[in-house]
Amino acid sequence: MRVTRIEEHIHLIDLEPAGVEDLIASYVLKGNRVGIIESGPSSTVQNLLSGLEELNVKTEDVAYVAVSHIHLDHGGGAGILLKHLPRAKLIVHPRGAPHMVNPEKLWNQATQVLGERITRIYGRPEPVPQERIITAADGMVIDLGDDVKLKVVETLGHASHHLSYYDKLSDGIFTGDSAGIYVDKADVVVPTSPPPFRLDIALASIDKMMRLKPKSLYYTHFGKGTDAVERLRTYKEQLKLWARIAKEGIERGEDLKMISRRIFENDKAVQKAADFIKDNPVLSVTVLNESVEGVMRFVEKFGFDVLV
Ligand SMILES: [Zn+2]
Repeated sequence: MRVTRIEEHIHLIDLEPAGVEDLIASYVLKGNRVGIIESGPSSTVQNLLSGLEELNVKTEDVAYVAVSHIHLDHGGGAGILLKHLPRAKLIVHPRGAPHMVNPEKLWNQATQVLGERITRIYGRPEPVPQERIITAADGMVIDLGDDVKLKVVETLGHASHHLSYYDKLSDGIFTGDSAGIYVDKADVVVPTSPPPFRLDIALASIDKMMRLKPKSLYYTHFGKGTDAVERLRTYKEQLKLWARIAKEGIERGEDLKMISRRIFENDKAVQKAADFIKDNPVLSVTVLNESVEGVMRFVEKFGFDVLV
């Protein structure tokens, strides 16, 4: 666990699942009350609580835990976390809320998609009591007092239940998985687009974030990126490049492995990030397999022309 101040009123806590650094961030916002963005997975709740202690945040001062979406690495720990935060409410997309109350299906699906090794790194989610959930609508404002306000920005595509949060004070967006994975050591972004990825909707969500003209992006994976609008534009181009390569590959009858290789050969950002991805026990599995597969499945189902 490592705590870093990234803005006057925002701290990042590196949750370090299974000791892996720079993989999953929770953000702590301090107004008159405290808000947390991303509970992270079940396995790292103790690390998050240690981070709060280091920040002198009392557990009863936390008013909200807002998750970008319900996938284990973002919202999986909400049930356990809320047991330690007596006054906090969970903010989640209405389509995600039922799976927070009853996480059994979420857990089974994650085990199928990610495999047992990774789900074990994240840990099993516990239920969140219905009465502690606030379902968020696009445009809703979360007021933490002392001028700290978060606006909910519905950003579907990565998932059908994905939200981002715009912080007016810093002019930054907490992007969850809607703006890719930021590999800060290589200063590049790589896609996070596992099936059932909706590329067309994801691109519209990126446009929506660009219209807010943010200065910074706060990635859950991982950390603060500057030049936000340019970064979002680059991510759009990258996703379209992947889709074009997938389309050509599918037409030639290539399989996932061949298309992944072709993407690697053509995407400079992925090449730059390759060493960091290779050494990372989670990203090495997810980025060039599941993310490519998500784009491939999209192109197979919806075609490429819907994107141009
Ligand atoms: Zn994620």
